[in-house]
Amino acid sequence: MYSTRKHFLEQECDTAVLPVGAIEQHGSHLPVGTDAIIAEEIAKRLALRLNAYLLPCLCISSSIEHRESKGTVYLRADTLALVIRDIAESLRYSGFRRLIVFTGHGGNWILKPTIRQLNRDYEERGMSMETILIPSNIAAARQGEIVTHVQHDLHAGEKETSIMLHLCPDRVEAVVPQTRHASAPQDYMDYFDVIDITEDGYWGFPEEATADKGRRLLDLIENSAFAYLEGIEQERRRIMAGKSSGPVPRETDKLSTGGWDA
Ligand SMILES: [Zn+2]
Repeated sequence: MYSTRKHFLEQECDTAVLPVGAIEQHGSHLPVGTDAIIAEEIAKRLALRLNAYLLPCLCISSSIEHRESKGTVYLRADTLALVIRDIAESLRYSGFRRLIVFTGHGGNWILKPTIRQLNRDYEERGMSMETILIPSNIAAARQGEIVTHVQHDLHAGEKETSIMLHLCPDRVEAVVPQTRHASAPQDYMDYFDVIDITEDGYWGFPEEATADKGRRLLDLIENSAFAYLEGIEQERRRIMAGKSSGPVPRETDKLSTGGWDA
């Protein structure tokens, strides 16, 4: 955001990192911008490690499942897909060759087919550009080492509240107790608004959150994301070299269900 034209002329940089957040209710204890705050933090870390261009956060995304709650603002899923296409295309046109999208919001399902299609479109047009999506649950396989609840901790629960307690404790309010924990399948968000499934808009166990868990979760997400990127590069080198060995194990190969879906 603060780079100048001169910076881009003088420094070799072909990778951009885009954080995608959300503006949606997160119960009574977390701010609506929670996903954006977390996405910005992870994207900043990745951009530093990759010496990449850190884009400002795309804060408004696909949050229609929270629309009954005042303060939630959302794009239709197909609008979000078009926005991502435009961002990738504008980066490619000015000389970037890789766009890494980190989404802090699990509801951005549309991002996956979008980048899959984009990569094929670029390939078919002979253009040297790739897009990579890192999902919010990239560390799902190992988060059980840190948190108590891996299952049914989908939104403003133990994981997100822990990270917010680490990043900005002054923004975390008291958790309003719920008389029951939502145990409906996550797919029910396709049919019902989250505030109708839950009592105070959170889906998980924020009462078990600590700042230390948040610090460790952020490090785990950062390292899992970096390992994912490295795995892609290794696989590309293997394919390019025409080797006959099997695929390189990647972090995502170990992804389990019940991840953090924010
Ligand atoms: Zn969230």
